[in-house]
Amino acid sequence: MFETLKARPADGILALMQMFKDDPRDNKIDLGVGVYKDATGLTPIMRAVKAAEHTLWETQDSKVYTGLAGDPAFSDAMVALVLGSAVPRDAVASVATPGGTGAVRQAFELIRMARPDARVFVSDPTWPNHVSILNYLGMEVVRYRYFDSETRGVDFDGMMADLKTARAGDVILLHGCCHNPTGANLNLTEWQAVVETLLETGAVPMIDIAYQGFGDGLEEDAAGTRLVASSVPECLIAASCSKNFGIYRERTGILMAVSANKGARKLHQDTLAFLNRQNYSFPPDHGARLVTMILTDESLRADWQAELEDVRLSMLTLRQHLADELQQLSGSDRFGFLAQHRGMFSLLGTTPDRVQALREQNGIYMVGDSRMNIAGLNAQTVPILARAIVDVGV
Ligand code: PMP
Repeated sequence: MFETLKARPADGILALMQMFKDDPRDNKIDLGVGVYKDATGLTPIMRAVKAAEHTLWETQDSKVYTGLAGDPAFSDAMVALVLGSAVPRDAVASVATPGGTGAVRQAFELIRMARPDARVFVSDPTWPNHVSILNYLGMEVVRYRYFDSETRGVDFDGMMADLKTARAGDVILLHGCCHNPTGANLNLTEWQAVVETLLETGAVPMIDIAYQGFGDGLEEDAAGTRLVASSVPECLIAASCSKNFGIYRERTGILMAVSANKGARKLHQDTLAFLNRQNYSFPPDHGARLVTMILTDESLRADWQAELEDVRLSMLTLRQHLADELQQLSGSDRFGFLAQHRGMFSLLGTTPDRVQALREQNGIYMVGDSRMNIAGLNAQTVPILARAIVDVGV
């Protein structure tokens, strides 16, 4: 049986990680993999997470199964974190999932179950796993214009023209904040225009929010998601706790189905629980429990927010530093977009051969589409990167 299996193309980012490891140069710089790193290159465990783990170790007296939807307290805490008071609590059905990826996967399966002929519109570019999972599930993918390769901002006119071609029951996948891989995001006026198009077409929004708190702040980063959720009859939200709680390997995420039809909440909740049951039964609990403890304890929450704010500001400082260096070296403002982008990533918007030249000549590793992880930089490496970018002629 196994002889029929086919080799799959290597995952670009994982292959890049290996190349970086194998590179003997001391001064190499890793801007590839999508994890936050502090100035020393470490991905630390957040203080509040450590404290919650300590308390959990002391107080947890059983590891018996939770519910199929995970602990309801996790849902309550996460619905409040993502949606605030945008929609009534009883408009939201939700399940804990293994990471944001689990939430994305379950959302796609729900869509396929409810509307087998739905097309899923994704930004061009988007997180590659969106397309990969949709292909794997045999779902139709339509790409909408998103990144303007001249300005390195959002091609909003192109995006709107493409979204208008959606039909009722199609799904429009949006990044809640800190777009991966581009770093270019919608402002609230643009979100409002997207809402109007959703209402005109009858397409259903699905929002993937994996970096809340990494952009403009916890509340600000959720503003687009909240606007959509409060304006349309139905939407799906996949949220990840991997980045903003720094608990990548704990696999903590949540899928929410928001519906103005409150009478249908039980059906939605039962369907989400059914999907969990089919795929992995009970979702992982450890990370979800830490998140719940942090969000519901005043002092843990304050400490988490303070540390998250430090993380956010450190990335903004690096962005500004890099934009300033490039401004000085190139004598032009064309790299100003780096300070405008938000989140961990920026798409430099350059060619694969320049990305290769940066790697081979300078030991600077970024993803082939020229996505850089800003958190891979520090005050010493910013000028080195700026010099290299100018030298290779970006
Ligand atoms: N969505 C987007 C846009 C992401 O960038 C990521 C993380 N790379 C995820 C979802 C999923 O993250 P995780 O499964 O690690 O929680």
